[in-house]
Amino acid sequence: MNVNKKNQIDPLGIYCHIPFCLKKCSYCDFSSFSCQSADSIRNYFEALHKEISNFARENESLLLPTVDTIYFGGGTPSAVDAGYIETTLALLKEVFVIAETAEITIEINPGTLTGDKASRYKKAGINRASVGLQAWQDFLLKIIGRIHSQADFIKTMEILKNVGFENFSVDVMVGLPGQKLADVMETLQELMAFSPTHLSSYSLILEPGTPMANWVEAGQLDLPDDDEEREMHWAVDGFLKNQGFEHYEISSYCRPGYQSRHNVKYWDLVPYLGFGLGAHGFFKGRRYGNSNELEQYCELLQAGKSPGLFEPVMDTSEMMNEWMFLGLRKLAGVRDDDFMVRFGESFFVRYGEVINSLIADGLLAWDGSVLKLTDRGQDFGNRVFMAFV
Ligand code: SF4
Repeated sequence: MNVNKKNQIDPLGIYCHIPFCLKKCSYCDFSSFSCQSADSIRNYFEALHKEISNFARENESLLLPTVDTIYFGGGTPSAVDAGYIETTLALLKEVFVIAETAEITIEINPGTLTGDKASRYKKAGINRASVGLQAWQDFLLKIIGRIHSQADFIKTMEILKNVGFENFSVDVMVGLPGQKLADVMETLQELMAFSPTHLSSYSLILEPGTPMANWVEAGQLDLPDDDEEREMHWAVDGFLKNQGFEHYEISSYCRPGYQSRHNVKYWDLVPYLGFGLGAHGFFKGRRYGNSNELEQYCELLQAGKSPGLFEPVMDTSEMMNEWMFLGLRKLAGVRDDDFMVRFGESFFVRYGEVINSLIADGLLAWDGSVLKLTDRGQDFGNRVFMAFV
């Protein structure tokens, strides 16, 4: 079932979704499920492998690009038996050309990693770990319903280091109920002892229907107000820059040379494939999204059908919109020259009015060749992005 392995241009990224968690966090509305039986996990991986094999068969005649990033996200990929990750990666290696220097990432939640799993990941070729800490303080971890403690995080990092992982990212959150600026600073200070190469800092978003949204609505939990939340964001920004991190995307910081090569593909509007429950992809100019109903996803694949809903091929104007609003997430901004190379005209031709009004509001800055978010633009990112939709 091998696809054509000749083409070496335009490398491709692959995302694999592993939708299982030990317990649902109180703020989470991702495609993830807790308390699944061993049978249901096995069925899921059978379906996932079918989806990958079907893709390979259906695209057998294409010159598929080399894959240079693979990302196991979730859910909690580290919660399932390591054998499932090994067989999925082996299948990907069988049907795609994987670059020798490929960045292969797995998301890990503290409390689910063992030394055996970590060394099997390493042996299978995984070379980057993304660890979900969120906060250093146990009282905050409890409020947000994480399964782990600070001690579990420390143990996870020791395991990763012991088996030789050097490239790892840590997720932290700001704007949590009961969180103070001092807690955020303590989280960052403690983290530096583990020498992460990358940090993602997310602001809590209350998703309707989650337990946390219900508690806040019922007045049982208080969130920091917008000013406090922004103060936390800017404190994270200042601290990490002082430590030598680059702020390269609205939520992402890295040591020089350690951007997430996989995530950058999303913002650069280059093709990537998504496999698994609720996974999204962008391929041959079309976006697609898989079913996020676990049973339906498995049944569709068992019946030999595609689990994805494909949007029509994007026309040039949609492509331009996406290029602008995804590209502006990058702190380096977007270059008019690049837009001209891709679309044959300046972005001022199409968006002159929108851009000028965002510049006048202090949300974007233009230096004659690059358009980028200002500090104020970071605080009102959604307003900027929506202006290009
Ligand atoms: S670990 Fe992540 S995916 Fe799983 S429930 Fe918590 S937030 Fe959601």
